[in-house]
Order: sequence, then C-alpha cells, then structure tokens
Amino acid sequence: MAEEFPKPEELIQIDHRAPNTDWMETPINIRKGMYCYASNPKSVEYLGLPHARQWNPVEDDWKLPENWQEIIHQGFKERLERFRSFKVFMDICVRCGACADKCHYFIGTGDPKNMPVLRAELLRSVYRNDFTRVGKILGKINGARPMSLDVLKEWWYYMFQCSECRRCSVFCPYGIDTAEITIMGRELLNLIGLNIDWIATPVANCYRTGNHLGIQPHAFVDMLDFFVDDVEELTGVRMEPQFNKKGADILFITPSGDVFADPGTYVIPPEHAWLRIRARKYLQGNQLVVLQALAGWRETEARRADKPKGWILKNEALIELSRQQPKKPERLKQIRGLTPGIIQRRGNHLINLIEKALELPEEQWPMEKK
Ligand code: SF4
Ligand code: SF4
Repeated sequence: MAEEFPKPEELIQIDHRAPNTDWMETPINIRKGMYCYASNPKSVEYLGLPHARQWNPVEDDWKLPENWQEIIHQGFKERLERFRSFKVFMDICVRCGACADKCHYFIGTGDPKNMPVLRAELLRSVYRNDFTRVGKILGKINGARPMSLDVLKEWWYYMFQCSECRRCSVFCPYGIDTAEITIMGRELLNLIGLNIDWIATPVANCYRTGNHLGIQPHAFVDMLDFFVDDVEELTGVRMEPQFNKKGADILFITPSGDVFADPGTYVIPPEHAWLRIRARKYLQGNQLVVLQALAGWRETEARRADKPKGWILKNEALIELSRQQPKKPERLKQIRGLTPGIIQRRGNHLINLIEKALELPEEQWPMEKK
C-alpha cells in the first residue's frame, strides 16, 4: 500500500452523505494510503501479460500504449459477446440502491464510487456510450460517457478497491454480481498493463515457486526443519516431515498463507536462531556454542535495525567465525564473508562474543541432533 495512512481520528469521521456534485462531475482523487502500488513490470512480464512497464498512479502520465482506447473498446466488446451474464448485468440494474450500503469499502471510506452500484456504473457508463443506441444518442442524460484518461483512472482506482466478496449480490433483487463486473473491469485494465502489485507479484510468485510468498523449495524445507526441532524440544517427539514422497497414501498441501500466518515463522527467540542455519550441521562441540552466540546477536541486531539478517552478517561468515574462532581482530581478514566495513564496525564486538561464548561450561553447549 501507499506510504501514508489515514489517522484514526480521520477514520471515525467518515461521512456517508451523498456529495454535492454529480458523480460524473466529481473528479478522481487518488488518495495516498488508499491506493496500491502499480504492478512491478517484472511480475507482469513473468505472467505473460501485455504492456509491462514502470508507472506510478499518482503521476499524470501512466505511460499507456498509444491505442489504449481501442484496446479497451475491443476487449469490452469481446467480453460482452462471450459472457451473457456480463451483458445482462450491464443492462438490468434499476438503481434501487439496495446494494449501496452493503460494501465494506463504502462503509470504510464513505466514497460513493465505492457503492457497488456506482462501482459498476463506472463501466456501465462507457458501455452505454459505446454499445447502446440510446446511450449514443442521449449521452449523459442516459448515464453514458465516453472513455477518457480520467475515466480510466477511476476504473483502476475503484476496481481494485473491491475484494470480489459478492456480499452486494446477495442484496440485489436482480442478483447482479458486482464482483463479476469488477473481474471484467480488471481484465480490461490488464489488457493495457494496469494492475496492482498486491496481485501481480504474489501471482507471479505462485507461477515461479508454487506459493504466493515466493519461498524457494530449499528455504521451505529449512523452515520445516526448524519447526521439527522446535516441536522436539517442547514435546520430546521427533517428527519426520516428508516431501515429494512417491506412493504416499495422502496428499496434503497446506496453503502457503499458513506459513505466512504462523508467528513462529518470523518470531524466533535469539537463542534458537542458530537452528535456522543449515550449515550448522558441519560444526560440532564448542563451535556450536559460538554459532549460537553469534546467530543470537545477529537476530537481535537485525530486529533492532529492521533489516534482513543477511545484511547484518552472512551465514557464511557466521559459520566461518564459529569454525575458526579468531581471538584477534587482524585474524578477521581471513574469514570468508566478512567485508572490511563489517570488520571495522563490528570486529571487536564479534571477538568479544566469541570469547564469552567459549567461557560457557560444556554442559551449557547446544547439541546438534543427529
Ligand atoms: S463484491 Fe466488491 S462491491 Fe460488492 S460488497 Fe464485495 S467488495 Fe463491495
Ligand atoms: S441492488 Fe442491484 S439493481 Fe439495485 S442498485 Fe444495486 S446492483 Fe442495481
């Protein structure tokens, strides 16, 4: 999401009254904190979608393809021909307003264009203008308007503020499914490379790695190894997770969101951080106590600085320090993965940590489970 968020005192002042101006006359205002970032061109390309490019919703120039209006018109026409429901939904709304206050986006923002009926009207107005005789003749009187850059910006802003939950359709006496209209609107936007990164990148991740977080297979195995160690430490039971087992009786696929939602994936007690380093298996004895101290320090430091752990110290350096256990700062130059900058800033501290770890009595050394 964009960087600035509305303050709580602003949020409780939501005004649900109709605005003074007609909705067609109310200009688009892409509010900070309300819009999602534009899709990353790499993700758009990965998905094989057209017109991947860097663009910014709050800039005037969206770097659209030259014939974007023609592309949208043609895409609209094709979808009306292919999907009867879409055509029916464009025609039958009687604007009764039963759906108006049912959308959580309207309730949460007070923005009339977030009423399901008006969200759909953004598309319907262009439909009437381009595809109905009466719309072509009567224009605005019939609720028709031609496609323009402002209309397109409205489409992008409001089509991606619908979660396609279909709540509104439950209340519509005609069963109009605004979610389907939103889906069509997004499809049309995708034809000219307009998406949001909350969708494009997770979907590209799914294509690439099989999960929306983009976790690589070896990282996933690592994570489960760590969970298994944790469970064993707490219960004394060692589990044997299986991956890609041929001839298994049960196929169990967890949603990747489960990993995302598990607090244990992110909150690691610093004293357990060494268990997340796969190469620990090559260390033994007092090398492990040094690794535990260094990895714990790195975990705390990364959290304090709000930076990825690898930016503080690479795993390779942690393993080498644990193996070689340097006692003097000048020996640090021989450690793989330690840059001159790190040696200058953190060298003495690392030597101290190693020294203190080696003072611990043997009964307090961590044990690697074989
Ligand atoms: S389907 Fe979209 S418009 Fe309808 S209630 Fe859900 S979020 Fe709102
Ligand atoms: S409830 Fe149905 S018919 Fe009534 S305004 Fe909403 S979409 Fe239109």
